[in-house]
Amino acid sequence: EDSFDEDCDYLFKAVLIGDSAVGKSNLLSRFSKNEFRLDSKPTIGVEFAYRNIKIGDKLIKAQIWDTAGQERFRAITSSYYRGALGALLVYDITRQKTFENVKKWLKELREFGNTDMVVVLVGNKLDLGKSSREVNEEEGRSLAETEGLCFMETSALENLNVEEAFLNMITKIHEITI
Ligand code: GDP
Ligand code: MG
Repeated sequence: EDSFDEDCDYLFKAVLIGDSAVGKSNLLSRFSKNEFRLDSKPTIGVEFAYRNIKIGDKLIKAQIWDTAGQERFRAITSSYYRGALGALLVYDITRQKTFENVKKWLKELREFGNTDMVVVLVGNKLDLGKSSREVNEEEGRSLAETEGLCFMETSALENLNVEEAFLNMITKIHEITI
């Protein structure tokens, strides 16, 4: 599509995981295309997106995988995780259940993923925080600390911290890998 493939110094694969409807696909479209969809349907077809990032004098191509709705059936397979250096583990701050399930996702991640994978725990839908929050920021931060993850609250809708969450992960991968 562009000439970047030949010029890029590194290609990183990262994955999006977390319960259905927490906002994974919208976080990715916000990061890769600066788009948001209120009526977003479960992802069909396209399973990853790219974004090119410059760190220092190195060009990094981040390939971010999104589930095609398999998370509904807990049917994400090991091939999804294969080769991934990072993960954004997303929950919805307005749905406690999605936060409780973070532990299940971590278990799966540790079973199928690389041992030194960079994981960012993301509490999404921050824009709804004032009216319908069910998970405190402290709970998220504390779980992240216990599990050794980075942490961030985001809003794909209002474009809050989305760039930061992805770049946090990509920068850490870069530090570890190079
Ligand atoms: P996925 O199943 O995890 O990929 O979730 P989607 O990205 O498809 O989003 C599920 C629903 O949540 C859709 O109706 C989105 O419009 C909505 N949504 C996603 N992110 C946000 C957000 O940051 N704030 C709000 N208010 N809604 C969001
Ligand atoms: Mg989706």
